[in-house]
Formats: sequence, C-alpha cells, structure tokens
Amino acid sequence: MAAETEVALAKGFTPRKQRLVAKAVEKKDEILALHNAGKSAATIEDLLGLSLYGVRSVIQSAGLKPRAFDLLGTPRGSGGPESFPEARALDQEYRKLYESGMTLRAIGDHFGVSYQRVKQRLDRSGCVMRPSTKDVQLVTRECTHCRQPFAARPKLLRKYCSSKCHREAASLSPKVRGSQVGSAKLTEEQVLEMRRLRAAGASVADCAKQFGVTVGAVSHICQRRSWKHI
Ligand SMILES: [Zn+2]
Repeated sequence: MAAETEVALAKGFTPRKQRLVAKAVEKKDEILALHNAGKSAATIEDLLGLSLYGVRSVIQSAGLKPRAFDLLGTPRGSGGPESFPEARALDQEYRKLYESGMTLRAIGDHFGVSYQRVKQRLDRSGCVMRPSTKDVQLVTRECTHCRQPFAARPKLLRKYCSSKCHREAASLSPKVRGSQVGSAKLTEEQVLEMRRLRAAGASVADCAKQFGVTVGAVSHICQRRSWKHI
C-alpha cells in the first residue's frame, strides 16, 4: 500500500475519501508532472479524470502546495484533450452509463471519483440531465383526518399530514374482527366448536384437518393468541 493511502487511512477518512485518494495515488507521477508544469489542482483533476480531493491529497503528501490557479504563462491547451484521450474516453463512459439509467453516485463509485465530478463532466459534454430527486415538484393534498392541506411527493400515497393524524384516524376507525376480516377462513361458531373439541381431547392435527386450516392456526386459536375476542 502506498504511503499516501496509509496516511489517509491513519487520519480516519471515510471509505469514500480513501477510495478517491487511492485512485489518485495510482497516477501520482502524472499529477506531479502537471503540477510542476504549473497546472492548478482543478486543471489536473479535469485532465486526468480524478477527484479534486485525491489530486490535492497527492500533491500535499509530496510536500508541495496545490495551486488554486494555473501558473501565469502556462500555455492554454497544453496537456489538453489530445494529450489525455483516456480522460475523454472516460467522459464517454460516464455518459453511456448515465444514459443507461445509473445514478451519478453509482457511476462515481464505480470509477473512484466523486459524483460531483461525474456531474461536471456530463454537464460539459452537453448531456441532458434527469431531474434530481431534490427537484421533484411537491403536490398539495388535503389531510384525510384534519382536512389541512399538506405537501406530499406525488409518488407517495400519503393520506395524512402527520403521523399524529394517522394514529388518530386509525384509533377512530371501527375495529374489524373475527369473520368480518376479509381473509378470515373460519366463522365464530367454528372457532368455538374447535376450542370445545380441543378441550374434549381432540388433537391439534385432527382439528386442523377437520376445519381446513394449519396446525399453527389451531394452536393459536386454542391458546387464545388469535380470536381473543370470543
Ligand atoms: Zn392532518
């Protein structure tokens, strides 16, 4: 493991930051060459397809100070797209994956760069961005309980403005029990008959067979864990 990665680990960086640094360390020589040629950290990030965070970490761990701006007199375009075809090829990869439906974060994790970088590269390549979850238009709905309007995400089927209203509405609604429950397999009379048979010594398995329910259901009924109300 490279020294820089060890430093990152020792500092207790998050796994994401550790990955960004580890990725940049692989291109250490290229980063330092560009830095010495007068390039800013942001330019190096751009040219090599790395994260700004990783680039800065590598320069700092070499005992140098990352530049905020390209050094004056650095010829613009030197080290441009032609010099780094792999960085441009990476942009195409980002775009292909994004258009196939992958999220910015998933793409960033895949290539060891931040999602901001992926977004920046996609923006620059003129890719049409999907609406962010942050930009989803909220709709106004009326609370089924208190009749106050509240904002909801259109996809979610929220009926109540708050959990308080939800609880209150649930406690007010009449309780459905026994054979009134839609999925009930037995009637009140059958349950009472089953309990009587069990008390008279019939086995759980026999009861299950007779009433067409599972052994577990018979056991629950006779131990009054279900059908408690009768
Ligand atoms: Zn409400």
